[in-house]
Amino acid sequence: MTDDPLPRAALLARLQQDVEWDLAVIGGGATGLGVALDAAVRGFSVVLVESHDFAQGTSSRATKLAHGGVRYLAQGDIGLVREALRERGAMLANAPHVAQRLAFVMPAYRWWESGFYGAGLKAYDVLAGQRGLGSTEFLSAQRVRELVPGVQTRGLSGGVKYWDGQFDDARLAMLLARTAAARGALLVNHCSVTGLLRDGGKLRGLTVRDGPTGALVTLRARCVVNAAGVWVDAVRDMDRDADAPQRPPMVAPSQGVHLVVDRSFLPGTHALLVPKTDDGRVLFAVPWLGKTILGTTDTPRDDLAREPAPFHDEVEFILREAGRYLAKAPTRADVRSVWVGLRPLVRPQADEGTVGDGAAAAGATKTISREHTVIVGRSGLVTVTGGKWTTYRAMAEDVLDHAMARGLLERRPGGVTERLPLVGAAPGRPMNEPPGEHLYGSEAALLRSLPGAQHWLWRDGTGGLSEAMVRFAARYEMAFSVEDVLARRCRLLFLDAAEAARQADAVAAILAEELGEGFDAAGSSAAFKVLAAQYLRVP
Ligand SMILES: Cc1cc2nc3c(=O)[nH]c(=O)nc-3n(C[C@H](O)[C@H](O)[C@H](O)COP(=O)(O)OP(=O)(O)OC[C@H]3O[C@@H](n4cnc5c(N)ncnc54)[C@H](O)[C@@H]3O)c2cc1C
Repeated sequence: MTDDPLPRAALLARLQQDVEWDLAVIGGGATGLGVALDAAVRGFSVVLVESHDFAQGTSSRATKLAHGGVRYLAQGDIGLVREALRERGAMLANAPHVAQRLAFVMPAYRWWESGFYGAGLKAYDVLAGQRGLGSTEFLSAQRVRELVPGVQTRGLSGGVKYWDGQFDDARLAMLLARTAAARGALLVNHCSVTGLLRDGGKLRGLTVRDGPTGALVTLRARCVVNAAGVWVDAVRDMDRDADAPQRPPMVAPSQGVHLVVDRSFLPGTHALLVPKTDDGRVLFAVPWLGKTILGTTDTPRDDLAREPAPFHDEVEFILREAGRYLAKAPTRADVRSVWVGLRPLVRPQADEGTVGDGAAAAGATKTISREHTVIVGRSGLVTVTGGKWTTYRAMAEDVLDHAMARGLLERRPGGVTERLPLVGAAPGRPMNEPPGEHLYGSEAALLRSLPGAQHWLWRDGTGGLSEAMVRFAARYEMAFSVEDVLARRCRLLFLDAAEAARQADAVAAILAEELGEGFDAAGSSAAFKVLAAQYLRVP
């Protein structure tokens, strides 16, 4: 089901057509892409615009776990866990080339830990039912040492093994975009929403600016969905009467930092989970694409930077705790990349004149939620934020339910994406292996047919980054810059920022051949090197 290459000029020509879209989606992260796909499969005409690149916001910076949320189980939120377990199953089934099951070990150092956490995880198995990925097992200290050769053995008394899922977030986002496009949706990255069109208090569409050309385009739409992640409040502000007071913000962003180190710190195929560090936080060490991800943190932050920098204390916390649970303690010098994402946590809302999902309807009070919230404003603007990557599909269904309940779209049955294979879906390989052709699933043959399939720019084991992968990114994956390729089509920036910077010129030269005259190879490469330097800065 590989789509034909679609040059940018053709995308823009479609964007400029004078049509009324059923649905216009603002934001090309997990949430917006999920909405676009669900609506397109239901037969609605859909346009989605993304100001940067697909998944450039939070959706490329997750811990990359498809999980039911063991933590929420501890909080007694059974409904949320059950929903997430269902969604975990759907993600692994529909995109097996980029989403796989992963075994976790919780090591125990205190006598009560195995029994306490094991009982909770057995309940997790029961809730997963048929969708379970493997049974929870109690482990002896010896078995923990065998499964997790990198674990700290001093004081180790045993542990528990359980199963969850793991994925490549930015590649999954790309697959959602391409699957939606194959169903007729128009998705344009590097194109920002600059204003909303209102008529008699009702929302009629939006204005967008194409990044590369600066062209301004007006889009008419019956329903507009604001899926701008932590940036939803800026879009809601565009929906305000000039003389109306500013609304209280809907999002309370929280920053999460990840450090990436070599696999030698966590050899083997199992992830390590510390459910409660001394100060009550969770710590993960996860094998991913040939490296080890350490994280994460949860630090309130209001400035909504596109590329937030980590704080010294956050790095200190991750390194200190990793050093307590890993036999070989990582230091700042071992860090290959540090990346930071902003969680769109939802504040309690009291937004008069809106209908919400109960959690955020007028007057509701609630502590900050990790669940998603949908609000339909007076003008008809549908805003969705919160939730998590794993539940993007359920969030999309909820958004469409709200739009239909409000009469913005006619009723059409849902449940259309739960068993919908994404582009390239084919049996995959564990996500702990270095990136390679296996991430292209059934499109690997097409990849191999492109020039440079055997020309490796960067090699890791049997995988790496080939010239053909860069051409594939430009032809089929809407990559328009060195950053699009090295940060999100291939994840080298996230795995090894110094290596990514070394590849920038070569990638720019291949992109110049693919994208033609309008592409500024030198500028794109230089901008990427500045970005890569930030991913190497470990405060
Ligand atoms: C540190 C961290 C770890 C996480 N780990 C996990 C995990 O392991 N598993 C899990 O399930 N979830 C995880 N999450 C949560 C998950 O990543 C997020 O819930 C999800 O990515 C949010 O997606 P989104 O589409 O709502 O936001 P985003 O991905 O930020 O997308 C919003 C998009 O809107 C665009 N936009 C903004 N303004 C405009 C405009 N004016 N015009 C056009 N476009 C615009 C932005 O550029 C952005 O791309 C994690 C989150 C963080 C921060």
